[in-house]
Amino acid sequence: MRTIGIIGGGQLGRMLAMAAARLNFRTIILEPQVDCPAAQVANSQIVAAYDDPTALERLAAECDVVTYEFENVPVDAAERLSRSLPVFPPPKALEVSQDRVTEKQFLNGCGIETARFHAIDSQADLEQALADFSGKGVLKTRRLGYDGKGQRVFKDATDDATGAYAALGGVPSILESFVPFEREISIIAARGIDGTISCYDPAENIHRNGILHTSTVPASINGATAEAARLAATAVLTALGYVGVIGMEFFVLADGTLIANEIAPRVHNSGHWTEAACVVSQFEQHIRAISGLALADGSKHSGCIMQNLIGDDIDDLPVWLAKPNAMIHLYGKTEARPGRKMGHVTWLA
Ligand code: AMP
Repeated sequence: MRTIGIIGGGQLGRMLAMAAARLNFRTIILEPQVDCPAAQVANSQIVAAYDDPTALERLAAECDVVTYEFENVPVDAAERLSRSLPVFPPPKALEVSQDRVTEKQFLNGCGIETARFHAIDSQADLEQALADFSGKGVLKTRRLGYDGKGQRVFKDATDDATGAYAALGGVPSILESFVPFEREISIIAARGIDGTISCYDPAENIHRNGILHTSTVPASINGATAEAARLAATAVLTALGYVGVIGMEFFVLADGTLIANEIAPRVHNSGHWTEAACVVSQFEQHIRAISGLALADGSKHSGCIMQNLIGDDIDDLPVWLAKPNAMIHLYGKTEARPGRKMGHVTWLA
């Protein structure tokens, strides 16, 4: 039996560890928080910071391959590990996705359209960039933003930008042009060690307060738009020499054109539906990819809707339990803080 190291102990690590166990792999979680969601179902946990040198040495000694469940793993730690054993997805994918400017430059370099953007390093940069975009745009920190945190939307030229750069922390930022999208979709795709690529169907996503609320499959898009999403994901996976599952988010314009928003070099919340509506979920697909097993084809047997259970939503559990054709997945978190992802439910259409 072989051992997979997973950096990060959240719900994504938990679902990866569960999928790994079904294929006879052992898992070791590297995570500073004791009794984290992933460690509850894994074989063991190394309780240490993600860049702790001793912990990384132990992980390298005890594992056959290392993966991660979030994109803010320190690139140095991933590169250091990759000198001793395979680290999948490749550390280059972390580097590209950790900085919104680098990410957009990379996507544009792959021939994939993104929002127009300016790098912002001062209030003066911001004012100049807003003038270029007729006062409209979305200001985001370049690094460490998630679930809509570290963002400010400028709706029109009357929106006062005074102090906006400092309000976001005065850190390197990006102003993106405002994309007048009709809907948002994402695609989950995988690339194996042998270069085989497999894509799931695109999902249509609705966000509430910057957090994913529902993913619906099939998305209300035509075949050409779905194919464009598959081609974009394929281009990204190939350019990175990627191994594992990737999540890629897009805005869809009224004419069906796709504008890429971001890539996540890991299993993705908008792919949780695959657990209920596909024979092989994104979690198993990732484990298959990084361990050199054959990929599944990614086809679905049902349409479905996945809804996140956030904070107090967990109180509605009896309602979900009574719902026909609904699969519930809880993450083992004891405290239901506002905005915290406690679980999800997927019901087949
Ligand atoms: P992000 O953190 O980049 O995923 O952004 C969170 C959400 O904000 C997205 O899912 C969109 O709903 C919205 N958003 C982000 N960037 C833009 C943009 N450039 N134009 C319009 N809406 C955006």
